[in-house]
Parts: sequence; structure tokens; C-alpha cells
Amino acid sequence: MNALDVENLNVHYGAVHAVQGVSFAVAEGELVAIVGSNGAGKSTIMWALSGVKERSGGAVQLFGSPLPSRPHDVVARGLALVPERRRLFSDLSVEENLVMGAYLRGDDEGTRQDRERCFQLFPVLKQRLSQRSGTLSGGEQQMLAISRALMSRPRLLLLDEPSLGLAPILVDALMDTILRIRSEGVTVLLVEQNAARALEIADRGYILDAGRFVKSGPGPELAEDPEIRRAYLGG
Ligand code: ATP
Repeated sequence: MNALDVENLNVHYGAVHAVQGVSFAVAEGELVAIVGSNGAGKSTIMWALSGVKERSGGAVQLFGSPLPSRPHDVVARGLALVPERRRLFSDLSVEENLVMGAYLRGDDEGTRQDRERCFQLFPVLKQRLSQRSGTLSGGEQQMLAISRALMSRPRLLLLDEPSLGLAPILVDALMDTILRIRSEGVTVLLVEQNAARALEIADRGYILDAGRFVKSGPGPELAEDPEIRRAYLGG
């Protein structure tokens, strides 16, 4: 079964046709990257898939049945989004942000296990539990944003530009973390402007340009493609 089947997705902002008939699938267990420059429509795809932005056309199946229209129903069906620029509850503590991530769950034992799993991935968060999240470093905020999403125990994790604003060494660590999350059985859809890094770790990649896919293929192959490098990877 596929985690995601997207057929002819269209999204508008008034007269702006931001996503223009995009089709793709993500198999369970896969790590798929969508890359493209500023304004290509990457975030809009993520918002549409998480039920935050209404679709103007197309069909989306999540684990074999139609995507619900309300964001909390989407979360309940196993999809969690790590939004661009983290969007943490910055006045709340690290602990409270984690609680918010688990708000739909009633299983205290499972929730406790998932907290521990987040602390294994990001030990620093355990030391910062009572700290206001707005005062964390950029890298720590990204760790918390990912942990908050993991607290809903997603089967499909959407990551919108997670490397944004991180120092190169932290981007390395982040990519390793994404691979580790996937190795623990979570399917991952990653969108990135940092195209080279995303494609290197992706099973498959799609190049998005002005709301349409212009190329797709195995991630590392796209990362090495001279034409793609020239047009989208800054070299
Ligand atoms: P970025 O990395 O800059 O976020 P992106 O690839 O995620 O780029 P989107 O944010 O999805 O791109 O934007 C796609 C298109 O939709 C752009 O032309 C953008 O100007 C337009 N757009 C995005 N949000 C809105 C909005 N709220 N109202 C009108 N147009 C919008």
C-alpha cells in the first residue's frame, strides 16, 4: 500500500494557481523529496496534504483512503507536519510543546514511550524540558518541532524546509536524524530548497518549478544530473 497517492493536485490562492496538477505517490517506508526554488509551491503542497489549505482540484489518498478535509482528522489518520520555520508555541515550554503534539492521544503509556523516543533522538530536549521554546537555539527548535510531530506517532511525516536557517554541521545531523526516523518505520516526505542535501538522502525526488513537476527520479541520480545541478542546485 502507498502512504500517499496524489493525483492531479491543484491549489489556488485567489487567482494565483500555486500548484498546477501535481501527481505523485509515496510508498510506505519510502523517503521522498520535493525540491524547488522559492515560491515553487512546496509549502502549498504540504499545507494541502495536511488539510490546512483547501485543494481546488485533485484526489489524495492517505494509506489507501481519501484524505480527510480537517487537519485534526488528518493527524488522527497518521500524518504529521513539521511546518516551515518550526511554528512552535514559543511562549510554551519544551514540555508543553510535546504535550500539544500528543493532544489527540488518550494512550498515556504510548505517549510516555514516544517522549522517551524523542529524548533518545534529541537528548538535549530532556535537559530543556521547562525552558520556554522561543529561547532555544535554531537547531534545538528544529529538534523540538520534529519531536512535537513525532508525539502524534505518525506513520507519514511531512517535513517542510527543516534545514532552513541551520548551520551546515547541524544540517548534516538533521539529515542523519531524518534517515533514522525513516529506519524506525516512518514514511517521510521532505520538501527542501536545500536541494542537493535532500536529494542525496531521498529514495526518489521530484523537481518542482512554478507549481509543476519538471523532473523526477532516484534522489542521488537527480543530485548528480548536470542539468538539474545547473538549474536548481546552484552548480
Ligand atoms: P518558499 O520556500 O519560499 O516557501 P515554496 O516553494 O514553499 O516557497 P509556496 O510558499 O508554496 O512556495 O508558494 C507558492 C506560490 O503561491 C508562490 O507564488 C506564492 O507567492 C504564492 N502564495 C503562497 N502563499 C500565498 C498566499 N497566502 N496568498 C497568495 N499567494 C500565495
